[in-house]
Amino acid sequence: MNFFKKLFTKEKKESLDKGLKKSNESFFNKISKVIVGKSKVDDEVLDNLEEVLISSDVGVKTTLKIIDNIESRVAKDKYINSEELDVILKEEIIDIICDSDENDVMSISDHKPHVILVVGVNGVGKTTSIGKMANYYKSLGLKVMIGAADTFRAAAIDQLEIWANRVGVELVKQEMGSDPASVSYDTLESAINKEIDVVLIDTAGRLHNKTNLMNELGKIKRVLQKKNINSPQEILLVIDGSTGQNAFEQAKQFANVTEITSLAVTKLDGTAKGGVVIGISDQFNIPIKFIGVGEGIDDLQTFDKREFVDSFFKKS
Ligand code: GDP
Ligand code: GDP
Ligand code: MG
Repeated sequence: MNFFKKLFTKEKKESLDKGLKKSNESFFNKISKVIVGKSKVDDEVLDNLEEVLISSDVGVKTTLKIIDNIESRVAKDKYINSEELDVILKEEIIDIICDSDENDVMSISDHKPHVILVVGVNGVGKTTSIGKMANYYKSLGLKVMIGAADTFRAAAIDQLEIWANRVGVELVKQEMGSDPASVSYDTLESAINKEIDVVLIDTAGRLHNKTNLMNELGKIKRVLQKKNINSPQEILLVIDGSTGQNAFEQAKQFANVTEITSLAVTKLDGTAKGGVVIGISDQFNIPIKFIGVGEGIDDLQTFDKREFVDSFFKKS
């Protein structure tokens, strides 16, 4: 089933531009300084460009890759002038962002329900993103159910319930402290009975103890598979873009202990560290599915690398 719609609306673009304003301003200023007064792309320009990318949180490995690619283009075409540099840079960045077919990333399985297990450390925006995702899927005409498998704190269940009520979708919960695997099982069972299309499962954020994390997620997966061997169809890792290099570290740790299928990068509004999106996508080769550009219900966008890079480079 393919529900990906090219929702390239004016509103979406405006909200993306607004959300990336800080990253854009900072990046654009720095790039302009690299280029100003230069007639050709020489080693000095490339060195300065390298600095700009690293200081924009693109990450060292990805930056070096981009610089290498630009260097070989410049070597081939000696007449590239510095004004063309930002066009080339833009192309190279688009190229380096994990090239997954948007239709694949956004599609949901034909055998309902499509279960998305949402993981990540505390405070990155898992619960909020689940609320926004529920709203997104509902707006596509799908039947959505949420499972409150973050049973660690009562407040976590209440917060999710507020979102479920706000969006108007059903929530499956148990008492605080109950087994997250058991909540997940109940949720899937109920979703099957009610012919739900998309199930979103919230989990407790923890990373301090990798063994615990692995055990808990492993157990949730095992129990879900008792009900449906193909579930969960997705394990979505949520990372907080405003933490810059820390977000890289989290992605690395999670990718080591569980099979992450997609990413959501939140809190890109209010930070100049938007470059993390580029590096993370390149380094982990996991598609970015959603980006969070604000706290409102509509502030979770489906990720489109061209739109993203466009906003990033936009002259204001
Ligand atoms: P969780 O612990 O991972 O479930 O994180 P929460 O969903 O509770 O979110 C933690 C805080 O981050 C909340 O105050 C959210 O409103 C905020 N938040 C989440 N996503 C975004 C975003 O894209 N932009 C902004 N500005 N805040 C966000
Ligand atoms: P264990 O605790 O490591 O042995 O993990 P289990 O595979 O027994 O499952 C963990 C939790 O998931 C259990 O406590 C149950 O609440 C729930 N669960 C697992 N299998 C079933 C089942 O067949 N029926 C129901 N109702 N719940 C199940
Ligand atoms: Mg939460």
